[in-house]
Amino acid sequence: MKRIYLDHSATTPLAPEVMEAMFPYFSEFYGNASSLHSFGREAREAIEDARGKVADLINAQPSEIYFTSGGTESDNLAIKGIALKNKNKGKHIITSCFEHPAVLEVCRYLAKQGYEITYLPVTRDGLVQPDAVRDAIKKETILISIMHANNEIGTIEPLQEIGEIAEEKDIYFHSDGVQSVGKIPVDVNSLGLDALSMSGHKFYGPKGTGVLFVRKGVKIESIQQGGGHEGGIRSGTENVPGIVGLGRAAELAKETMADESARLTLLRDHLKELVLGRIDESWLNGHPIKRLASNLNFSFRFIEGESLILYLDALGIAASTGSACSSKKLTASHVLTAIGLKPEECHGSLRITLGRYNTKEDIEFVGQAIGESVIRLRKMSALGPR
Ligand code: PLP
Repeated sequence: MKRIYLDHSATTPLAPEVMEAMFPYFSEFYGNASSLHSFGREAREAIEDARGKVADLINAQPSEIYFTSGGTESDNLAIKGIALKNKNKGKHIITSCFEHPAVLEVCRYLAKQGYEITYLPVTRDGLVQPDAVRDAIKKETILISIMHANNEIGTIEPLQEIGEIAEEKDIYFHSDGVQSVGKIPVDVNSLGLDALSMSGHKFYGPKGTGVLFVRKGVKIESIQQGGGHEGGIRSGTENVPGIVGLGRAAELAKETMADESARLTLLRDHLKELVLGRIDESWLNGHPIKRLASNLNFSFRFIEGESLILYLDALGIAASTGSACSSKKLTASHVLTAIGLKPEECHGSLRITLGRYNTKEDIEFVGQAIGESVIRLRKMSALGPR
């Protein structure tokens, strides 16, 4: 049975080019990048080369790139680091209610430490409204953190407008770019960002690798004490093969982004028509246009998303319902709840996230498989009409 992977927002496969680039750094070039000898220098050169490639992808300076262990760590470092360092100026942070847990849980933690957090609502399409950001600002506000693209519904947020407000009010602006970097153009300068989180495994790089961009001059405290690596912001011996892989993945993303985005948009729109055309009482969640080329998030009435995932899995199709990172929880997705879906509508959701190795043939097969599976599940369902 051919297996079709449609869960690229959960993770992407490692690109063969990335694996090839990483390989020598597991065996031949194993030096510690802090060592003064030639082994260390080889590792250091490879890290600096990767730093340049990542900087190039987001139009930053190499000195503004800090390697971490992934998106979760980058979000923690950005939000806690800025909150701690700037607490004398104020303790108010603005975010949205449909961020990834890597942001929401950090905010909840900070709230217990005496910080005040404003969680902005989103529209039915999943957009944070810049005016709501402006209205929420107080004199104690030190940070605004709004994600770039939502991991469940793929909506792309109006970062540029929010960045302009943050700049006008002189407030730091962080974004969780885990789902956008490598998929859509990201320019930290035109978006007005002071900090941006990224994760290697979301754009064909290795798991356990990430980046935090921190604009020069931003006051941020290290949350992990140690040997002072990565400019003193993120101590710990560098994961050289991982960083090399991340750099190569960034380079590939830059080269292929325009063509790949156009290709995925066609596949996505075709699959959307196949599914919505075949199944009544169904709709697409998220913004119709301001969304990632890779993302489709459907709701089907009268079925359980978990059952649909198992049906599709039996046909070799991997997709998800709710956020991948929380898919084992049976609670309704906080993202779908935030856009106004009722709990039963949240439970009948299906997230399809396309990627580099999906083909038109895959999409035809998947469109048919989803249609047949939903119809069969509805026949057995106690939830509503058959
Ligand atoms: N932020 C978003 C929007 C994500 O989608 C994810 C993972 O799914 C993360 C953060 C966490 O990234 P990582 O898996 O690299 O820790």
